[in-house]
Amino acid sequence: MSGSQKLMKRFLNPKRKSPPPATNDPDHEGPSNSTIRSTRPCPLPVPTIRRESTVNLNELPYDPADRKRISEYIGPKLQDEIRRKYLVRDPYRPQRGFKYPQRSIGNIQRRFSTKWYDKYDWLEYSEKKDAAFCLYCYLFRDHIEGQGGNDAFVVDGFDCWNKGCRLKDHVGKSPNSFHNTAVKRCNDLLKHDQSVVVALDKQSKVTHEEYMIRLNNSISAARYLLHQGLAFRGHDESKESKNRGNFRQLGDLLADQNENTKRIVLIDAPRNNQMVAPEIQRDIAECYAERRDKDILEAMLEVKLLKRKFQQIRDDGWDSLLDKTYSFCEQYGIPKLDMEEHRPA
Ligand SMILES: [Zn+2]
Repeated sequence: MSGSQKLMKRFLNPKRKSPPPATNDPDHEGPSNSTIRSTRPCPLPVPTIRRESTVNLNELPYDPADRKRISEYIGPKLQDEIRRKYLVRDPYRPQRGFKYPQRSIGNIQRRFSTKWYDKYDWLEYSEKKDAAFCLYCYLFRDHIEGQGGNDAFVVDGFDCWNKGCRLKDHVGKSPNSFHNTAVKRCNDLLKHDQSVVVALDKQSKVTHEEYMIRLNNSISAARYLLHQGLAFRGHDESKESKNRGNFRQLGDLLADQNENTKRIVLIDAPRNNQMVAPEIQRDIAECYAERRDKDILEAMLEVKLLKRKFQQIRDDGWDSLLDKTYSFCEQYGIPKLDMEEHRPA
């Protein structure tokens, strides 16, 4: 588990004061025995919806070769959550610069072609197997009738790099082909999704504007807590509780500052659309974590490019640098300085 994931988990787990329910799930991560021993039992009810106790979505494997079949996860709700997670991540593709291995097919050296990525948005690649897969068909493989479920892109991975036409064949011509049906199922899933990532697609009885006001209120509260490193959850988040945890207390306080927001968030919000459920808190926190990870990656790339640029200047030598500097000065009418005394030995 990465540092940021650990951090997110700490924010989103209520400070448990009673042992977790017994579970045989290998993915379950409860507190250690020492943690349990060192805390007092709490008479207040602990929120029972804890998806982390079943599967930690952040730890779902990325490489297609490492993934379990969706049908191996128990329960349609969990299966849909896992599908959503994979859809939000997009098809798995190695980072830029990855060297796709070559091998001889019919005495010609062949390898996976990255040009296929541009043409097929479902395409993913397993570094472990050196094989291509279809994300959408993986997600609905066991829930669509037809032979397509046995296709190489779905089962063991496609690696006939000399047969690029097979990618087109996988999609099929019919709108009801196995693949196209899987794509439709994915779109339907996202359309009905209540997660933050597809919040804009959500159209229910509440108006879009009111929905966004509630969501924004929750995001503001979450952003503050993340920035301050404060826990989200409370021991008792029920309406009657005097302390419902930082996230809810702060959300209420923010909403209370404006009459319209107060009405929408605190008074008129439908019970199932308040944008404060543990799942929503987790989704918001994940969005921030993913954005931070992206920022770090982009910064690392910038540094890399800069280092390369400096190395190029060094390789070109002092005279080349002077020429470039002087021509720049000439172009913009900047007086030239005598740089000879700075010439490296
Ligand atoms: Zn497919």
